[in-house]
Amino acid sequence: MEILPENLQRLRQRVAIVTGASRGIGRACALALATEGAKVVVNYTSSSAAAEEIVTEINAAGGNALALQADVSQSEQVDALVEDTIAKWGRVDILVNNAGITRDTLLLRMKLEDWQAVIDLNLTGVFLCTRAVSKIMLKQKSGRIINITSVAGLMGNPGQANYSAAKAGVIGFTKTVAKELASRGITVNAIAPGFIATDMTSELKSEEILKFIPLGRYGQPEEVAGLVRFLAADPAAAYITGQVINIDGGMVMA
Ligand code: NAP
Repeated sequence: MEILPENLQRLRQRVAIVTGASRGIGRACALALATEGAKVVVNYTSSSAAAEEIVTEINAAGGNALALQADVSQSEQVDALVEDTIAKWGRVDILVNNAGITRDTLLLRMKLEDWQAVIDLNLTGVFLCTRAVSKIMLKQKSGRIINITSVAGLMGNPGQANYSAAKAGVIGFTKTVAKELASRGITVNAIAPGFIATDMTSELKSEEILKFIPLGRYGQPEEVAGLVRFLAADPAAAYITGQVINIDGGMVMA
């Protein structure tokens, strides 16, 4: 990776937390924000080697990154994640709520634990991280919160009752919090990717899925990260809040 020269960096001195940044979309977001000069917390839950690799890559390129382990479905661990970020860099300007899991199965086979695990991380995790950073952003009178939802939260998807409920919940949460925090200069937006080539989608039957994607291909993590980078940047996205932006090769056209 290359970090932009200082005079071109749009996120210089900003501090970003990216949840679930050890792999996939979160990894691409961490690298993209670092490119713009942000100091980046690379959160992960189990992939410490992968997270440290990203940190090494960013630091070697002249940026600033730190790997912090936290299960973001757990309130105390989220508080520690934010406290450790403040202890290191003194502020939080950008939160990318990206960590997510799937536990796909049809409704009648879905166990309560499949439901609960997905809701706990994909919805409650977004609430916990947003609540923790918003205290800091309110004092700073600025901030960007970007929630990674999914087209499944807009259109539903057989086998994903838990996941689509959580992702639809994130959309309602995004709009409410955008209204609550707007007067203090904090924007809150959601990104709804379609099918993106990551570990999460690696076992899906792509030939069937491609029929539903007008652009005829999966998206790349870097394409989602480009949108995150835009929404985080000032002044480019300063007047956008409470929105859900699809990035899905045309799968959902409202
Ligand atoms: P992925 O490749 O499976 O990576 C998931 C990331 O989440 C990993 O970094 C993982 O950390 C982290 N994570 C898992 N459980 C966690 C926890 N309890 N606390 C903190 N981090 C945790 O997923 P992805 O495809 O990049 O998806 C990222 C986000 O985009 C998710 O919210 C997903 O729902 C959404 N999304 C993805 C697609 C797609 O097609 N891929 C489409 C729409 C939306 P470890 O490495 O430590 O396990």
